Amino acid sequence: MKQGLLERLAAGPVICAEGYLFELERRGYLQAGAYVPEVVLDFPEQVENLHRDFLRAGSDVIEAFTYYAHREKLRLIGRENDLEPMNRQALAIARKVAAEGDALVAGNICNTNIYEAGNKDSARQVRAMFEEQVGWAVDAGVDFIVAETISWLGEAEIALDVIRQTKLPSVVTFALHRQGELRDKVSAAEGAKKIEQLGADVVGLNCIRGIRTMMPYVKQIRDAVKIHVAALPVPYRTTTAEPTFESLTEKDPECQHCIPDRRSFPVALDPFQATRYEIAEFGREAQALGMNYLGVCCGAGPHHIRALAEALGRKPAASRFSPDMSKHYAYGNDTRLKQANREYAERL
Ligand SMILES: [Zn+2]
Repeated sequence: MKQGLLERLAAGPVICAEGYLFELERRGYLQAGAYVPEVVLDFPEQVENLHRDFLRAGSDVIEAFTYYAHREKLRLIGRENDLEPMNRQALAIARKVAAEGDALVAGNICNTNIYEAGNKDSARQVRAMFEEQVGWAVDAGVDFIVAETISWLGEAEIALDVIRQTKLPSVVTFALHRQGELRDKVSAAEGAKKIEQLGADVVGLNCIRGIRTMMPYVKQIRDAVKIHVAALPVPYRTTTAEPTFESLTEKDPECQHCIPDRRSFPVALDPFQATRYEIAEFGREAQALGMNYLGVCCGAGPHHIRALAEALGRKPAASRFSPDMSKHYAYGNDTRLKQANREYAERL
């Protein structure tokens, strides 16, 4: 019998790899802009492979790729009829890959982009969107459900209420934009406290902010609540001046001219990429601070997740190929290496 999310969290950190949209966009299987996971229906084997890559890298959770597979997005690209098949297929793929390891399957709902504070009609539509997606996740037998990248407390409350009806464990993570507060003008910590009171099992932040600009807020959440805390930053070097990955701008004057509108988001963020060492450091720090639902969001690759897993003391399957520079032809120290190359190393 597989251990559930809450048992695992009680025993230590749980890793949840994310960022499928960015990775599959880079690989050429979905489009930046609308960011709809069409790949789930059009190239399902690619989604399966990516899940498997993350599983090998140490993810404890396979999150169904239903992010933005919701009614508002499908309408935008004229594929509303594909809504249900897309969700069911994404859930089936996640289940299949999770069963190859000891991983949990998570259902996923996210920001609807139609929520409007104080508008009852929008609240009704949001709830209906969440209900249909959560219903399909329950049918698929998921272990728990994540509501993520939500920047309105009001929208997160609806999401949590819909998840709570299922009796499954719930994870709610906010997206914190440049202002450093939720869009209803509530601090992240206050919002998290409200979500705790409403019965969530895990609360925290995901996406939008890199490690440096996310951690201060997750610490505040950690201090404010008693439930488990989640931290899933983007692997980009955000700064106090540019705290979100949307706000990052190219600094190299030689390269600025070729980036449309000088906005590096979303497909020119490469120069800001965090290394796996920074991700490892994040993992150690987050664990020490008592955060235990950890991952990396948009921009993450399997190498980041492996670094996170290893930082938490794990040895996932992919660790078989973790770096070993002792056999490098010039930087190595293996006695079988040619001495002349080793002496030439500092001239490389
Ligand atoms: Zn993200």
